[in-house]
Amino acid sequence: MELIIGSHVSFKKDTQMLGSVEETLKYDANTFMFYTGAPQNTARIPINEELTNKAKELMLKNNIDIKNVVVHAPYIINLANSNNFDFNVRFLKEEISRVESLGVDKLVLHPGSHVGLGVGVGIQNIIDSLNVSLTENTKVTICLETMAGKGSEVGKSFEEIKTIIDGVKYKDKIGVCMDTCHLNDAGYDLSDFDSILEEFDKVIGLNYLRVVHINDSKNIMGAHKDRHDNIGIGSIGFDNLIKIIYHDKLKGIPKILETPYVEQNPPYKEEIEMIKNKSFNNNLIEDILK
Ligand code: FE
Ligand code: FE
Ligand code: ZN
Repeated sequence: MELIIGSHVSFKKDTQMLGSVEETLKYDANTFMFYTGAPQNTARIPINEELTNKAKELMLKNNIDIKNVVVHAPYIINLANSNNFDFNVRFLKEEISRVESLGVDKLVLHPGSHVGLGVGVGIQNIIDSLNVSLTENTKVTICLETMAGKGSEVGKSFEEIKTIIDGVKYKDKIGVCMDTCHLNDAGYDLSDFDSILEEFDKVIGLNYLRVVHINDSKNIMGAHKDRHDNIGIGSIGFDNLIKIIYHDKLKGIPKILETPYVEQNPPYKEEIEMIKNKSFNNNLIEDILK
């Protein structure tokens, strides 16, 4: 099976998902992830059906399967904090319907930060919000992302994610997104990825894994920081990331790069090329800047 790899791409007001697909093609990628608006706010524009149809046509022409496409919910919604319960639920429901009208299946969501309420209360708030937002008819899969454990982030261990899933009524609408930078920063040793997968399978179940975010990390294992680095430049390293990207048990699961721009230049074309070659490009940064 062919490697399914892409990156974070933009979703602009005038071009919407059509622009996202066009950007994806520039990177020689076969999938992509986007926010339906700015990640740091919840201002959203209506989905334009004509642009969506054009995007789908272009995807079809280029063998991009919409089943592998991912939307990321804005990180400003914090389901772990019950103070904003009504706002969170209203926004999440709207986001779900936007994603459904785009025909996308996967919506990645940060579980949230408990902001001093404690992990247990935070998890319960997340469960309550999800149980009000998801219905029998929900078509998207909410992919809970594994977090670095920065501040009071919930979801820094497989056990916390599992506890959330246990409380959700419609478990078939829930998946998990592994983020390599977050796992590293949370204290998981990515040089032994087989053991991580084994643990994931034991605690959560591999059948829940829907998306993998591929990022290197600017910080050492267990730093609880969450600063992404370019592929092969950070503390995880190229060989460990390649083993993850090409792991047998992760076949068919979309891999999405969220690595940082280099002086305003997207790094994705060069990083994807390097990943396909399975060989680190010593001139990566120079090539990105070219
Ligand atoms: Fe994320
Ligand atoms: Fe991520
Ligand atoms: Zn991150």
